[in-house]
Amino acid sequence: MRLLAGLGFLSPFVLAALGLGMQSGFFARYGEDGVHLALVGLGALTGLTTTSLVIWLYMRLWFGRLIRATEKIAEGNLDVRVMERGGGLDGRLAKAINGIASLVAERTESATVDKLTGVANRQQLLAGLFSEVERASRYNRPFSVAFVDIDHFKQVNDTYGHAAGDIVLRGVAQTIANNLRSTDLIGRYGGEEFMLLLSETTAEDAAVLSEKLRNMVQRQRFNVDGNPALNVTVSIGIAGGQGPALRVDSLARDADAAMYSAKSLGRNQVYVFAEPDDDARIPRAPISPAGREIARQVGRIAREAAQSALTALITPGPHSNGQPSAMIASIAIRMARHLDLPEAETERLRVASLLHDVGKVAVPDEILEKPTALTSAEWRTVVQHPRIGQVIIEQATSFKDAVPIFLHHHERYGGHGYPFGLRGNDIPLGARIIAIADAYDAMTHDRPYKRAVSHDMAIKELRRHAGTQFDPELVNVFCELFASSPPQMDPAAIAPQTPLTLHHRRLRPDDDENVAYFDEGEVAAS
Ligand code: GH3
Ligand code: MG
Ligand code: MG
Repeated sequence: MRLLAGLGFLSPFVLAALGLGMQSGFFARYGEDGVHLALVGLGALTGLTTTSLVIWLYMRLWFGRLIRATEKIAEGNLDVRVMERGGGLDGRLAKAINGIASLVAERTESATVDKLTGVANRQQLLAGLFSEVERASRYNRPFSVAFVDIDHFKQVNDTYGHAAGDIVLRGVAQTIANNLRSTDLIGRYGGEEFMLLLSETTAEDAAVLSEKLRNMVQRQRFNVDGNPALNVTVSIGIAGGQGPALRVDSLARDADAAMYSAKSLGRNQVYVFAEPDDDARIPRAPISPAGREIARQVGRIAREAAQSALTALITPGPHSNGQPSAMIASIAIRMARHLDLPEAETERLRVASLLHDVGKVAVPDEILEKPTALTSAEWRTVVQHPRIGQVIIEQATSFKDAVPIFLHHHERYGGHGYPFGLRGNDIPLGARIIAIADAYDAMTHDRPYKRAVSHDMAIKELRRHAGTQFDPELVNVFCELFASSPPQMDPAAIAPQTPLTLHHRRLRPDDDENVAYFDEGEVAAS
């Protein structure tokens, strides 16, 4: 190319020399032969240099285009394509360049995009997280991340199947992706968890954006087998900061903790991570494997106690032989094993088999054992039993609703407590009440490490920490209630308010009022 360019460059000079020589009669000095020789030589030189110039210009224009395109591809711009002209060498080269660009684009996509949801995969997401934190830190800019987790997603899979779960997963990812700003990135962090990288965004702005996204997901409807208008909700946890204070690991951990706070506050909400006190003694760590194991064992003992109390209620009728539920459970388990159902599903099936008829406790034996056809009133009694069973089980396990209260009873009103560092009214009311009662009790009784203080001292102490450790309004309530005399033990507190006996053990089919003995609304609402 350089040679061609050099020769081409000479072309105007040769032409000029030829013209000048002719005009000045310079060649005539050497006679006719001299003129001829000079003319032939200069003619050849002119031909060579002008051809070189033309070839050089052509190559420069045509190959220059190819080269510029190839350079762009090398820089990572994989959308670039060149025109493929004919089957000559240049055409083949253009075709090869386009082929390389598509191949690289395809490979890059499969290495960076999550196939199911079409958003960035975990690797790409983490790479983005590192570079965003680095950028924000170098230029002292704000940056936030958000963890998005679909609520009760396991139920979607369990109820409508995995294919439906996949549709929902993709739909939620796409809704979020379509509503992010162009500088943001969404990636799939794990199963049904997504992470959003929000550049140039403070935690407060991230909360506003996330709230918008949460609303959009909530309004979205999915048409899946068995439910044409299925909808799901998401819980979102946010952590953010500015400049060199940002750290990749703490951002991810804090956003995750905030997401769990959103879950434990009732799901379908956005929660912004609150910075704990520097001297906070208890780290917001997940529970240890040993702690989890103990919790699992105790939980199992409690579950089995409840189950056997309920099974004992189901007395087999005089005409049944033995324990029908045990037989049913045995069959169901055999079938579940044969179908390779997961262990947790098999266990659920076992309990459901044992308790499936618990609602029959409300149906009189005469009806259950009646050898002849049932009257319509009797029939109305019998068909209630699955829903009565539902209410029984929901009542029996309703102490699950107490979880948010005891989970947060060590949070502090000012925001530096554990396990989540919730603040103010974000702490469930029940937890704020227990925190005061618990502190009062601790202060007024001897502890191995501390002597008891008087009622008045304890009240003073509660007042002193109102607003920081305790809800100030609730401290006022406590102080007013117990201003004149210390709290007394109430026997009703440890036992339920109503005695634990079954008043009307059986429904009476001849009495229409009693058919609705279990409130319809109660069943429908639960
Ligand atoms: P929570 O509100 O506490 O988040 O409840 P959850 O049921 O969403 O949470 P959990 O983590 O117990 O369950 C997550 C479920 O997500 C379990 C798993 O079967 C499902 N899942 C994970 N990845 C996929 C996937 O690619 N497709 C489908 N269909 N389901 C998935
Ligand atoms: Mg979930
Ligand atoms: Mg999850």
